[in-house]
Amino acid sequence: MIPEQATQAWIATMGPEAIARSNSYFEGGYFLMLAGWAVTVVSCILLIWLKLLPRVRDGIEGRIKNGFVQGAILVIVATIALSILSFPLDLYAGFYREHQFGLATQTLPAWLSEFAIGFGINLIISALFISGLYQIVKRAPNTWWIWGAGVTGAFMALMIAIAPVFIAPLFNTYTPMEPGPLRDDIIAMAQANGVPANDVYVFDESRQSNRVTANVSGLFGTTRIALADNLLERVSPEGVRMVMAHEIGHYVLRHVVSILVFTLFVVAIVFALLGTAMTRLIGDGRWGIRSVGDPAGLPLVIAVAATLFTLATPLFNNITRFHEHQADIFGINASREPAGFAETALLLSEYRKMQPGPLEKWLFYTHPSGYDRIHMAMTWQAHEMEAGRYPQGPLGPPEGYRPDFVVVDGGE
Ligand SMILES: [Zn+2]
Repeated sequence: MIPEQATQAWIATMGPEAIARSNSYFEGGYFLMLAGWAVTVVSCILLIWLKLLPRVRDGIEGRIKNGFVQGAILVIVATIALSILSFPLDLYAGFYREHQFGLATQTLPAWLSEFAIGFGINLIISALFISGLYQIVKRAPNTWWIWGAGVTGAFMALMIAIAPVFIAPLFNTYTPMEPGPLRDDIIAMAQANGVPANDVYVFDESRQSNRVTANVSGLFGTTRIALADNLLERVSPEGVRMVMAHEIGHYVLRHVVSILVFTLFVVAIVFALLGTAMTRLIGDGRWGIRSVGDPAGLPLVIAVAATLFTLATPLFNNITRFHEHQADIFGINASREPAGFAETALLLSEYRKMQPGPLEKWLFYTHPSGYDRIHMAMTWQAHEMEAGRYPQGPLGPPEGYRPDFVVVDGGE
């Protein structure tokens, strides 16, 4: 069997129903992205029209002299107003739709309480970060976009570093993986590739969803590799080894730092465009906004920034996909598990369309498609078998293989 045929044979194990469901879930995501942008822009226009922030600013500036505190209050008001307006879409996309596709495991009260925690964190972070950016705009009206991108980088690095310690535990419990052959194997693989790991963490993703997932998080001293309990539950040891080898790849190749650097280039460009657009739109004080550095103009900033960042989404996706592809190559060579790779690529199709067109992939994919991943695994296996470095075996799924998909029964 040639790799192309073997790839199609793996994909065929999904069956037409699962393929249709996967396509429909992922393609729906394109419209949700558009809907999210539209809701943000319309909500911002409403706030601008109501002059909500200029009114609050006029009300507080007599009493509060500190510009940073003034800015933070305005950010909090805008964030609360926009969150209320976008809540119906968040509820649909985050809760109802996830249940409809059998991906979520949470009850509505549990979902709402996590949503509230996320909202609270977002409120604090936004107030500090955005009000801080406004201070930079005031002090450096022409070059703020460079300083702003620098501060964004430092802030993001700080957030990445503290996330595993302070934020992730608010949503999930992380425990060291149970001792056993698979754990020993993962640690041996990590150490063989220069990762100073003595522990692998398991987190209770099953609290929220059925998703098969793993990640590398943290920065500086807090870096760690973690896998979801669902992964251990639903994937063979070969598949787990491949996923962990992929995560080890992210670590070894320093992807957290690399993605951050790439991202900041795009952020700097978006900030520069945002500054130009704001100067033109506000003119000499339109809609009660005094200048670009006036935090009362935040809804306008958010509307323009949401538009620019939505347009830049393919750039961010390509930056991520480039790194994910590297981690895949690293993973297959470190784990030597082509069938495990195909197995997990199939399970990931529960939330990612298998075979996109080239433009679709360029626009929307943060990871290689399932097709690309299985094709890579089969090509690797074919060459390794030919060279005598891999046991001869079926190139393609074993006889009668069926992926362990979540059963969706009528949208329960
Ligand atoms: Zn990855």
